[in-house]
Amino acid sequence: MNAITISNLKKTYANGTQALKEINLEVTAGDFFALLGANGAGKTTVIGILTSIVNKTSGSVKIFDIDIEKDHMAAKKMIGVVPQEMNFNMFEQVQDIVVAQAGYFGIDHKTAIRDSEIILKQVELWEKRKSPSRTLSGGMKRRLMIARALINKPKLLILDEPTAGVDVELRYGMWEYLRQLNAQGTTILLTTHYLEEVEQMCKNAAIIKTGEIIKYDRVKNLLQLLEQETYVVHVEKIQAIETIKMYNPKVIDDTTFEVDISKKERLNDFILKISNAGMIVTDIRPKGNRLEKLFLKILKQ
Ligand code: ADP
Repeated sequence: MNAITISNLKKTYANGTQALKEINLEVTAGDFFALLGANGAGKTTVIGILTSIVNKTSGSVKIFDIDIEKDHMAAKKMIGVVPQEMNFNMFEQVQDIVVAQAGYFGIDHKTAIRDSEIILKQVELWEKRKSPSRTLSGGMKRRLMIARALINKPKLLILDEPTAGVDVELRYGMWEYLRQLNAQGTTILLTTHYLEEVEQMCKNAAIIKTGEIIKYDRVKNLLQLLEQETYVVHVEKIQAIETIKMYNPKVIDDTTFEVDISKKERLNDFILKISNAGMIVTDIRPKGNRLEKLFLKILKQ
């Protein structure tokens, strides 16, 4: 069964911007799916249409076989949304925010109180249940957005940049939690700027470019396109650089150079070679945004 079936979907905004040209996309129930694309590609528009915030121009969208146009409320009940922008009342208390959301779905108050406790404990916000949301840290606010999206027990959870502005440690915790939700049967669709997020969690991904789906594949296959990675290496002092010329070194300054290392080679072998050359490594990290590199590779195909 499909969690999402998008057929011939078009969207032209009132100002004439053709945001979606004619999209076809299927997301299988149980998938952990990434919708990827540069800014302005059309991701938010797709999510907006799935969640009935944006009106489509033509085409059809089904959520678990329910046409969003024919049975808008039934489709809505299947979905939990975590938008990019924090949009809760900053003065309202944490638990009240989650309980109020239940009201929109016609969930009775007693059930809402009980379920909000379960969810707030899961996202580790139970201690903060009486705090006004404005007093939460950025990561906690994100978790509150997720808790609120889960109160109607959605079969499909949609997250627009779930870890934007969340620091690395919290990001890992959030990945783990989302993985658990997916393992328990929730279909998840997310948009992200971080390739690691896709690598860590997603099974399939589609890449959207100026309103068209240009690629749809298993994440594993997409990642194979990134066979080479450029690393920035910091050493105490560059020396005998010619002994590592197979890595195509590019010297930046006395202590910094860049190298290209193929996925098939081990980073360890490279480090051994520079140690043998007498250099002491102080830092080594991948250069730039790998997701952007992946887009460039795909565009060149
Ligand atoms: P993404 O989420 O991938 O950054 P969007 O779906 O927000 O992309 O935008 C797709 C295109 O539609 C862009 O060209 C954007 O400028 C345009 N767009 C988005 N929202 C509106 C709107 N409300 N009115 C007019 N144009 C819009």
